[in-house]
Amino acid sequence: MSKVTYFSGETFPLEMHKVRIIQKLSLLPIEERLKAMESAGYNTFLLQNRDVFLDMLTDSGVNAMSDRQQAAMLLADDAYAGSATFTRLHDKLKDVFGMPYFLPAHQGRACEHILAKAYIRPGSVAAMNYHFTTAKAHITELGGEVVELVIPEGLKVTSQFPFKGNLDLAAFEALVAERGVENIAFLRMEAGTNLIGGQPFSLANLRAVRAACDRLRVRLVLDASLLADNLYFIKAREPECADLSIAEIARAMADCSDIIYFSARKLGFGRGGGICVRDERIYRQLRGFVPMYEGFLTYGGMSVREMEAIAVGLDETLDEDMINQGPLFINHMVRELEANGVPVVTPPGGLGAHLDAMRFLDHVPQTQYPSGALAASVYLASGVRGMERGTLSEQRDPDGSEPLSHMELLRLALPRRVFTLSQVNYTIDRVRWLYANRRIVGGLRWVEEPEVLRFFYGRLEPIDGWQHNLVAQFRSDFGSSL
Ligand SMILES: *Cc1c(COP(=O)(O)O)cnc(C)c1O
Repeated sequence: MSKVTYFSGETFPLEMHKVRIIQKLSLLPIEERLKAMESAGYNTFLLQNRDVFLDMLTDSGVNAMSDRQQAAMLLADDAYAGSATFTRLHDKLKDVFGMPYFLPAHQGRACEHILAKAYIRPGSVAAMNYHFTTAKAHITELGGEVVELVIPEGLKVTSQFPFKGNLDLAAFEALVAERGVENIAFLRMEAGTNLIGGQPFSLANLRAVRAACDRLRVRLVLDASLLADNLYFIKAREPECADLSIAEIARAMADCSDIIYFSARKLGFGRGGGICVRDERIYRQLRGFVPMYEGFLTYGGMSVREMEAIAVGLDETLDEDMINQGPLFINHMVRELEANGVPVVTPPGGLGAHLDAMRFLDHVPQTQYPSGALAASVYLASGVRGMERGTLSEQRDPDGSEPLSHMELLRLALPRRVFTLSQVNYTIDRVRWLYANRRIVGGLRWVEEPEVLRFFYGRLEPIDGWQHNLVAQFRSDFGSSL
């Protein structure tokens, strides 16, 4: 992707790939979207994909593959053990990260399961810049505790700070002193910190974290699922790294880590995952869990076709012309929304644009789920499906009370290489319309609230029937237009 300056003087992202296989989409009229939203219980997870125009729920497993990846999939070598495909993927990972050992797993959370099994006991502490849902679930399931040490700037919705995913080193040292190093299972650094808006950490911060880990004798685990965006941001935002290649930055990050794991549903445009390890002793600690939970050591639950696609996809991740596609589209979306007064998380991160529902719907109390209401109303206004990241995504406490999330976000994910700029511009337009009409949108209340993972399956309804007023306003503003 290049950023080109137009004759008008404006700068726009320009795709450095062309589309060679397409999938037809449909954009339903708003009345049909309303029916689809009602049958989905005002929960975007329950929408049928055929009713969705642009699916911005997630980047997981929905990034577009290249011609080279598809070609490589035909060469896949099927074998239970000793497959040449595994060797090709392993060689590619050695090449990228410089770590000799690789344990394949079926996706990112499977790696988290293995690491938790190996290192978490009741009373263990896993320190991290910020948690990810599945990482935390595996740790707490085994009686461990997650302590988040992101710098305070990381939790500010709007900021100019380029590396909101940085770890607070003083807080880390204090934690180790307080709990004792023997209770610290590991320090986990998440690249492209997912739940706070796809925000990166800097290479300088990671190097300082490494030095602290050496001094304190703590294991450093890198969650590289969202590595691609973090690599790009280091190159673009960290002046000392401007002259390094993306491959050199990847190696420098790996050199700071003892263990790297990733979801290949995000990294490498494929589906799968795995753990890279430098030290043979650590490799032996983890190895036994792979045949037990995942599959034999040369596939770990992945198909050989997916492994071929990941090996090629890793090359494409390091491609200087390709790596910035997601971040530049997201930057365009965030800056356009911001320029039009729509509240968004800044600076733009990776993964997607994040709307700040707390300000967008500042008349809707948190107990009426502003991010959920925003997700539902963006779908009504546009056919675009986003993901609620706020109070709905929290669990109730054992006494039934409801913790309020400290951010109320709607994530509009931009899977890599999938959407065109005109589709992004359409989304911006409809979000702007919704913002102009935000007072029409009200809150949601439960119709059916599951006890676990309520945001996946729960059903809700609008309070006071605001959805009908929104449809009427849309018709009056857009006539018969979709
Ligand atoms: C998605 C994700 C995971 C989990 O990966 P899955 O393949 O979905 O199991 C772990 N960490 C981060 C940062 C992620 O974004």
